[in-house]
Amino acid sequence: MTYQVDENGYYGNYGGAYIPEILYKTVEDLKRQYLDIIESNEFKQEYHQLLRDYVGRPSPLYYARRMSEKYGCKLYLKREDLNHTGAHKINNAIGQILLAKKMGKTRIIAETGAGQHGVATATVCALMNMPCRVYMGALDVERQHVNVERMKMLGAEVFPVQSGNKTLKDATNEAIRDWCCHPADTFYIIGSTVGPHPYPDMVARLQSVISEEIKWQVQEKEGRDYPDYLIACVGGGSNAAGTIYHYIDDDRAKIVLAEAGGLGIETPMTAASMQIGTIGILHGSRIKLMQTEDGQIIEPYSISAGLDYPGTGPIHCNLFETGRAQVLAINDDEALQAAFELTRMEGIIPALESSHALALLPKLKDQFTPDTVVVLTVSGRGDKDLDTYLSHKP
Ligand SMILES: *Cc1c(COP(=O)(O)O)cnc(C)c1O
Repeated sequence: MTYQVDENGYYGNYGGAYIPEILYKTVEDLKRQYLDIIESNEFKQEYHQLLRDYVGRPSPLYYARRMSEKYGCKLYLKREDLNHTGAHKINNAIGQILLAKKMGKTRIIAETGAGQHGVATATVCALMNMPCRVYMGALDVERQHVNVERMKMLGAEVFPVQSGNKTLKDATNEAIRDWCCHPADTFYIIGSTVGPHPYPDMVARLQSVISEEIKWQVQEKEGRDYPDYLIACVGGGSNAAGTIYHYIDDDRAKIVLAEAGGLGIETPMTAASMQIGTIGILHGSRIKLMQTEDGQIIEPYSISAGLDYPGTGPIHCNLFETGRAQVLAINDDEALQAAFELTRMEGIIPALESSHALALLPKLKDQFTPDTVVVLTVSGRGDKDLDTYLSHKP
């Protein structure tokens, strides 16, 4: 019994590769080559050197003393917020662009919602001198103006998508359309553990550097190489997948994940797709998603732009369904409160996404004892969320 992917690209009932015929060869090529490439010494050396010298890894595992006292446990924060470009997404973008180069691709496309994955992709394209086109819903282009300017400054072409609700789902459709037109020379960099197989597994592996580091860092600090709890937030699932990767089949480490409750899962203003979603196909993968009875996607809502995806990747759908992970919805107000608390108690302003993970602590407090070792991933920093924080000051 394993929670890792099977040979057909499934995690239990979830996953697979539901793609148009014209992409079959491209996805098949990737499936055939990705493991050999990312396991090769040449790739590993280049990847780890960039993670060290460019991204700034290893990211620290920080013992949060005041928060530990408050929640009655030993709380360690995995500081992905200290990475270059401010979040975990760069780990994956670097890995995929190296893979694209090794496969002989000459052009990069990506889709982005809030713009964080677009910025990470534009960054590695500048680094590797590759042309880059980022698809973004026209509404998101307006809402995330600063990230749009960042991408342009980095040399990417930002393509505003006017169809549908003009948000992430529409940008994704447009990126897939582009990919269908240029399957031979174009590499599609997907930003989370979503999309057709092998993307979820590939992204999880490229983010697994997080749990690889946690292993030796907890060993160094606690004398054993596993924590009692691993905690992370889930949008598509990549920072969570990276946090749990080396522990996924080790029951000693409990997994608790936060999805975005928005204004509450009993309201239509939510993004808690694991708890209220139903099975369907999105972005080439069988997952739980928010849809109407006739299969129309329901627009998700969360105060955090990085978590308002209408589905969740197949890895986490399976962890939730099998009970390997406990998944709780965190509402906007709870996330905001957690953000202000971390800022005042530890001097760290977290991203709104990460604040959802922090807001799990009061809910889990009763399960902790002073010896309980908790590792919580702070997926990103809060600079990008300052306007939101300012308009919700307690
Ligand atoms: C994009 C983003 C997320 C959500 O994406 P996952 O793939 O679920 O990790 C979480 N935190 C931050 C800071 C992000 O930028």
